[in-house]
Amino acid sequence: MVDWKNPPRLFIPGPVKVDDGVLQQLARPTLGHRGKEYALLHGDTVDMLKKILFTDQNVFLSTSSASGIWEAAIRNCVDFDETVLCTMCGAFSDKWADVARSCGRNVEELKAEWGQPITAEMIDKKLASGKYAAITIVYSETSTGLMNPVYQISEMMKEKYPDVLVLADVVSAMVGLPLHFDQLGWDVALASVQKAFAIPPGLAVAAVSSRAIEKSKKVPYRGYYFDFQEFAKAAAKSQTPTTPSIPHIMALNYQCAKLVTEGMENVWNRHKQMGDFVRGWAKEKFGLFCEEQYASNTLTTVKNTREINVGDVIKAIQTKHNTVFGNGYGKLKDKTFRIAHMGDINMADLKELTGWIDEEVR
Ligand SMILES: *Cc1c(COP(=O)(O)O)cnc(C)c1O
Repeated sequence: MVDWKNPPRLFIPGPVKVDDGVLQQLARPTLGHRGKEYALLHGDTVDMLKKILFTDQNVFLSTSSASGIWEAAIRNCVDFDETVLCTMCGAFSDKWADVARSCGRNVEELKAEWGQPITAEMIDKKLASGKYAAITIVYSETSTGLMNPVYQISEMMKEKYPDVLVLADVVSAMVGLPLHFDQLGWDVALASVQKAFAIPPGLAVAAVSSRAIEKSKKVPYRGYYFDFQEFAKAAAKSQTPTTPSIPHIMALNYQCAKLVTEGMENVWNRHKQMGDFVRGWAKEKFGLFCEEQYASNTLTTVKNTREINVGDVIKAIQTKHNTVFGNGYGKLKDKTFRIAHMGDINMADLKELTGWIDEEVR
């Protein structure tokens, strides 16, 4: 029987499994958000995030899900008489284009088939044909498990279009995949904490370039809750503009300390090992939805080549083992299924889950 008070271990690509140590952080007594204690917590957390994201620029903490920063990036970095090029290769990157339109911006679309990457050449060709203020890209497209070649894209952007702002959705990539914010020359990189940070949902992290903050000064009607000017003013005092979810920031501080101690090369490598393991299993028993060179190391989309009843297998494993993995997203439902391998999910977890799937489909 389904019981929300006895929740299953989560292998869906967000929210993911949360360790007890993190849950304990969420249960600590609260602080006053304008007090010295909070400023210490905030400042320490942001300092660690700058190391984790390889940036000397700005890191903001937003009490919202990542979608809030989708809106922030558009409202702060694209003026009403400008155009944003939205690159689209799956449900999340598609949605960001909808968000930009809902903010009244001019959107030009650049689409790849679901499961196919957006390449530097595709973007170059499009940007050469018109005037754009910014582009949106997604690093790890969670609906398909695809990883876009963002380092190549960024090299091309820096060389040929240095004035076009780069807004990056790194929701299922941040922490799990290599990300050197300053070197990439990005202007916004946003994520929520329920993916590879392995914290319950309710907080978002955004690296924001100084140039994006300068740009936002000139863009009218940015709103209030997601105004980069407000965030920057508050950040100077190691605060947030409004009352933040302090328990989440305590949990984030705890997770960041572990990441800094482990070292980001090791963290990325750990995710690669988990990715290699799940892809190896998937290739042997089913197939991969994405070409392997474009497969994300934080989740795998398995092609249902054996035409199993995905819903039934998920249900059976939930009933027997109180564990769930993800069906395919949207139009890929039943044709694929998704296994998250990020954050505090470990190799033992993955061996257990894949073993259980094997038992069900034998
Ligand atoms: C989960 C996800 C989102 C949405 O994040 P929310 O925190 O639910 O707003 C956006 N983009 C990608 C790539 C995601 O994986």
